[in-house]
Amino acid sequence: MNQKKILKNFCNFEISNQSKFEFMSKILYIIGLSTLMVSCAAQNTPAKSSASTAQPPKQAVTQNPNPVPAGSQQTGLVTFQGVEFYKQNIGDISKNDNTISHGSIVTASPQGFRVVKRYFPAVGQNFRQKYLILHYTALDEDRSLRVLTEQSVSAHYLVNNLGDNEIYQLVDENKRAYHAGISAWRKDINLNDTSIGIEIVNTGYVNDSIGKKVFAPFDAKQMQKVAALVKDIADRYQIPPTNILAHSDVAPTRKQDPGPLFPWKKLYDEYQIGMWYNDADKQRYLAQLNPELFMTERNSSTFIYTVQRALKEFGYDINPTGAWTKENTKVVEAFQYHFRPENYDGIIDAETWAILQALIQKYPQK
Ligand SMILES: [Zn+2]
Repeated sequence: MNQKKILKNFCNFEISNQSKFEFMSKILYIIGLSTLMVSCAAQNTPAKSSASTAQPPKQAVTQNPNPVPAGSQQTGLVTFQGVEFYKQNIGDISKNDNTISHGSIVTASPQGFRVVKRYFPAVGQNFRQKYLILHYTALDEDRSLRVLTEQSVSAHYLVNNLGDNEIYQLVDENKRAYHAGISAWRKDINLNDTSIGIEIVNTGYVNDSIGKKVFAPFDAKQMQKVAALVKDIADRYQIPPTNILAHSDVAPTRKQDPGPLFPWKKLYDEYQIGMWYNDADKQRYLAQLNPELFMTERNSSTFIYTVQRALKEFGYDINPTGAWTKENTKVVEAFQYHFRPENYDGIIDAETWAILQALIQKYPQK
């Protein structure tokens, strides 16, 4: 049973069916109505609640005006059909902490004993969901769905390309989906543990007559779905722009998806999603380069080492050696898929180098 859906339906019901209020009151005799309405409002505006309603935990407890049964004595606990939900932000914003809960509380039922939430919740907690990884399926509609639901690969969401208004959920956000594989970004590895995976139906690429990868374009309506979905997830878990990534960013030697036609810049410009560089910074770094000198120096081991260090500093899993190999050239290619999509040959040109420096300036590792 989808507990989130229960609560959402329940909230809608409460708002749109005033005449059935008495019936609702019987069901909800243990919940103050004001608590419920706060809960619904919080669900509808999760991003705002994160910034504006953070309360120190002790204050949150003493402010509860509602009579509540033993075992559910904390503000923010809502019980519906025997399932407890926790909806209140107890994060300490002064520490940039992040503890907003959305959805049901999963609790043990030890035989012969009772789990109570008299001291719930502890302040020290955060979300496991730190990353959002975007993919294309490289398959058509039907096969995408079959592979992602019936085989050993999966994703939390699958965005179809049918022009409708549906997005398929395949895995609970609190569980691991098998989408990233061997992966790394900055200090983190094995990103299946800490990420939400979104698969987008798209047929990927074919090699043309000279071996260049030619990618399939993404549909505009499909991208609207992706944007809305990414925004919703990133807002709820407060996933920073530096952690909204392509599969090729976190597995550059193995993966190309979602490829150079994925509209990262458009998502950044129109929806404030993910990372993009400031053009003025890029131009400044470009102006510092002597084009002729750059062409002769770019194959020196000192420069190659500097570029590889910069890619690592930005977040890519690369071992700086001072020489280009087949493997670490793919890291440059992955960088270009994301940030320099006009040219993805894996060769550092002045533009790619300037963009990389501009990004490091804007998104330094803490
Ligand atoms: Zn992928």
